[in-house]
Amino acid sequence: MENFISERTKLLKPSATLYLNRKAKEMKMKGFDIINLTVGEPDFDTPWEIKEYAIKAIKDGYTKYTEEKGLKELREAICEKLEKENNLNYDLEEIVVSNGAKHSLFNIFMSILNTGDEVIIPIPYWVSYPAMVIICGGIPVFCKYNDKFKIDIDHLKSKISKKTKAIVLNTPSNPTGIVYDKKEIEEIAEIIIKNKILCISDEVYEKIIFDKEHISIASLSEDMKNLTIIVNGVSKTFAMTGWRIGYIACKKEMADSIAKIQGQTTSAPSSISQKAAYYAIKEGENLYKNMVEEFKKRRDFLVKNLPNIIKYPYPEGAFYMFLNIKDINSKELSEKLLMEKLIAVVPGEDFGVDNYIRISYATSIENLKKAIERINEFVEELI
Ligand code: PMP
Ligand code: GLU
Repeated sequence: MENFISERTKLLKPSATLYLNRKAKEMKMKGFDIINLTVGEPDFDTPWEIKEYAIKAIKDGYTKYTEEKGLKELREAICEKLEKENNLNYDLEEIVVSNGAKHSLFNIFMSILNTGDEVIIPIPYWVSYPAMVIICGGIPVFCKYNDKFKIDIDHLKSKISKKTKAIVLNTPSNPTGIVYDKKEIEEIAEIIIKNKILCISDEVYEKIIFDKEHISIASLSEDMKNLTIIVNGVSKTFAMTGWRIGYIACKKEMADSIAKIQGQTTSAPSSISQKAAYYAIKEGENLYKNMVEEFKKRRDFLVKNLPNIIKYPYPEGAFYMFLNIKDINSKELSEKLLMEKLIAVVPGEDFGVDNYIRISYATSIENLKKAIERINEFVEELI
């Protein structure tokens, strides 16, 4: 069989986040008292009203293909959201709904990359960006981070070449939880406009933010909006990871091209999930306010209780922390935490940083209390 597998897929590693989540769940099933801090998915259930709306959609017969770009009413709700919350005006034809933000990203890379085109990916990055660029024939070019774990501007400038097609910006960030300030985004926008490259702005954690407001880079100016492809979705904000709905907003020519790929591959996402996403986006804040407050409590709990020896960039959004314990190599540290303390985490190596690990605090405060006890023990044994 090996001979039949394409060179392109042989280059890929499985998604570390999904793989480690599966591994942790398997160990739990075998009876180990595992605390699973691997996967980034809200531990809350999808709000009941959203489920009811979807059930009604089934009963009402919304069980057929939709337009390739997605249900008109959903795209209208997305346009309204972007106008109201991000001060951005998009036309209905500039929105494409896909099977999760992951699929939106894949469609984008498929749509923009010729073989050998470069995409700048700031380190630390979400595990799937480089993998998707590679599948689509592109080359990931990594950009270093500064002392705040944000893009090192001088390094970014030095990495832009004639082959650069786009840069990925992810704020709030997976895996660090850092959030870019307006001034920092302006600085990046200036470079993007000067070099006429695209910005793929992954805003899936937009609403899971604690001390700040989210700023979409597209909202800075008309020039910047024209060069931005916004990626967002309902997975994180509304605890809807399994419904698989994400979307993009960008110039019509690009949206048309993305819709063409979608039309030839998946047609469109599930009509029922689109209905559910419509309800979620229309209702907005009422459905996620409590969940975000809970994430903030957990973030505060961890910041207060993690041992001082552990270093991390201060998390202002998403539900992750990126931890350094005495510079121990990330694979070794993850293995030790799993084997010695039954805590499952994701090694930083998979996000491009060797001596950090990622924890997801999308788990109960009880679990986090247990995790803190075990981490304290672990650190004491190290000293
Ligand atoms: N972007 C980032 C940064 C993520 O962490 C995730 C999580 N899976 C996604 C995109 C994709 O989310 P989904 O496909 O569930 O919408
Ligand atoms: N984005 C989440 C994470 O980083 C979900 C898993 C995935 O899609 O990679 O854990």
